[in-house]
Amino acid sequence: MSLKRQEKSRIVQTRRIRRIDVTTLQTASSDIARDINRDIILELIRFKQPLARADLARLSGLRPSTVSKIVEQLVRENWVTEGAVVKPARGRPSTMLTVNSSMVTFALDMRPDHSILAIVDLSGRFLHRENIPGFTDLKRTVVQIGKRIRGLRKQHPHMSFEGIGVSVPGRVHPITQRVLLSPNLKWHDFDLKGALERESDLQVEIENDANVCLISELWYGRLQGARNVVLVAVAEGLGTAILAGGDMQFGSNGLAGEFGHVLVDPNGPLCGCGQKGCWEVIASSRATVRMFNESSGRKVESVYEVMRLSEDGNRNAIKALTAQARALGRGMRMITATLSPELILVVGDITSSWDSYHAIIEQELSDSMLAGMPPVLRAAGDAELARLSGSAAMLMQRHATYHRSTHERRP
Ligand SMILES: [Zn+2]
Repeated sequence: MSLKRQEKSRIVQTRRIRRIDVTTLQTASSDIARDINRDIILELIRFKQPLARADLARLSGLRPSTVSKIVEQLVRENWVTEGAVVKPARGRPSTMLTVNSSMVTFALDMRPDHSILAIVDLSGRFLHRENIPGFTDLKRTVVQIGKRIRGLRKQHPHMSFEGIGVSVPGRVHPITQRVLLSPNLKWHDFDLKGALERESDLQVEIENDANVCLISELWYGRLQGARNVVLVAVAEGLGTAILAGGDMQFGSNGLAGEFGHVLVDPNGPLCGCGQKGCWEVIASSRATVRMFNESSGRKVESVYEVMRLSEDGNRNAIKALTAQARALGRGMRMITATLSPELILVVGDITSSWDSYHAIIEQELSDSMLAGMPPVLRAAGDAELARLSGSAAMLMQRHATYHRSTHERRP
């Protein structure tokens, strides 16, 4: 594929993170119909397997001939496997279809001090997971990761590895896939995608960590049909990801959703981005640790220690976490005013104390509404798991789009 064409297909791939919700599915009959119908069939098989072609026609409302054509293509491309033949009491025997269980992807969650490498199948099952230590030299880290990937491929010769989905704590340019805006890391000078592809000989797709968490919710069907969703990832920093009208938003240069670096307190502390008083320095886990240390005179390192102390009734710990919850809820005003989502998902550290603090966030959020009902606020669970399963989902999704675009180009 020529570079220009590759770039063009990259734009298409990046823009088209979509998941069909099988509970509210609508088939399409015009231009983009083939893609949508194909996604619907693959989704139905993923979520309701094993299924026969007749089941697919009934569930999707598509014509049996259309279903057969799509299934034929999915089998040819190895997404779907034909299994047992079931003979009903009346009528013709039918072949049961399942997703190809040997089709897997690597998911790589890169953090500043270590990485986590996992093998994930099409249904989102984890088949392997390991920690890889990080080095200050990113090049050395990539060599180490490459070594483990080659080793795992040798250990599992029967598996078909489709690529590596990578989650990074920075924004990623939608075309060059270079890591942008990682204030605490010097990753933007390094061609991470190129280096990983050379080390592994696999397709590599990189995405921002908050975005992959939202992709995970989408791909594994946990948004229950919501089409306007903002995910807030709370850790050392504060990242957000946006689903608007059912589409992920990346902006013109991959920087959409940087609410964490909007100024909310001109007298606030200095942020990693060079500005003072960003939402991030007031509402992140690092902010809680800072507030606790300042008021208690102690020197704890982790927000989990502050949470543990708050459970024991430590007043300074409760005060610091309450301040963080307030700051989170108040900052969400920017989100509701800009995007008016129906759902705000929170992932990361604070969700471990969700029962104690979510009511404060909720109260701030509803106090800030201009009109109407506030969005539903929900904790989306474990951030590390979401980053890994989202990385795998992102790779599979872009891989599917790639399959489609190459298939369509055939004469
Ligand atoms: Zn900032």
